[in-house]
Amino acid sequence: MASEFEIIRKYFTRPAPSAVLGVGDDCALLHPRFGMLLAVTTDMLLEGRHFLAGDDPAKLGHKALAVNLSDLAAMGADPRWATLAIALPEADEKWIAAFADGFFRIAGRFETELIGGDTTKGPLAICITAIGEVPTGLALRRDAALAGDDVWLSGATGEAGLAVAHRQGRVRLEGAALEACLARLHAPEPRVELGGRLRGLARSAIDVSDGLLADLGHILEASGVGAELAWKDIPRAPAIAACADKALAQECVLAGGDDYELVFTAPPFRRAEIEATGKELDIVLTRLGVTVPGKPEAVLRDAAGKAIPLARGGFDHFA
Ligand code: ADP
Ligand code: MG
Repeated sequence: MASEFEIIRKYFTRPAPSAVLGVGDDCALLHPRFGMLLAVTTDMLLEGRHFLAGDDPAKLGHKALAVNLSDLAAMGADPRWATLAIALPEADEKWIAAFADGFFRIAGRFETELIGGDTTKGPLAICITAIGEVPTGLALRRDAALAGDDVWLSGATGEAGLAVAHRQGRVRLEGAALEACLARLHAPEPRVELGGRLRGLARSAIDVSDGLLADLGHILEASGVGAELAWKDIPRAPAIAACADKALAQECVLAGGDDYELVFTAPPFRRAEIEATGKELDIVLTRLGVTVPGKPEAVLRDAAGKAIPLARGGFDHFA
């Protein structure tokens, strides 16, 4: 059976040319580029809470990094480096190799170098810290929305939540819909290019990890503005549109987590540039509504203009 050091050497040591020093010493050494701030984020994935025993290790390697890259994207930061702390119940090399494969595949796509970590025995847990760079003054913070901004969403929310509902037996998905929802849940695509392109265009941004309304709510709270949204303007992915259980579909769109789309606000005079950016990146960008002065809450209106009562917030580990 492989030792801790063999595992690190064999599976987690790769060249990190843009670090001064990568894996192998007590610390990695990093040099941010001139004029850049470091953006640092950590996300943890635990078996039984964020994924199930028996889930595909390659997809887990992908997702563990993807959710961190999504946080960098939501800040308008370009990914540079990552550390990986992992607890493994045993040195199952087939599992570790597949995990590393999934991890390095997405790391390579987004030019993220693994520069350190920790490897220990224990119940399966994965904790990644991602480090990016953003030009000083251009980070897309949650507290920077102003009343009168447009509220935008990339792609569509709800598919990951629908996949969870399928796993829980609350709905039965099949064929292309099932595939799309499972792909969204297990292999989310972080909006890294979009995040970078929104620097200087958007005023504030957040990624949708806990649910569309909950995460938009964080922008509203931090910025001290409200929002007016129209249900008819909120995009539906095909699997959501086809879902016979309309109440469940709505719950997934508004409150389902794990979609990793970006919600952002921008002044209306940026509309044309934002639309052009979406076309160029081939990402649907939709205006959901506007921010307004007043209570930091989102009001969602039906076709008749009536406020839709919102039953559930986003996902909260302690609720
Ligand atoms: P220390 O005892 O100083 O914490 P370790 O023996 O834990 O060092 O790790 C040795 C080197 O391997 C360090 O550079 C550490 O960052 C790196 N490392 C350990 N585990 C991982 C991992 N899973 N992925 C990447 N690098 C790792
Ligand atoms: Mg260590």
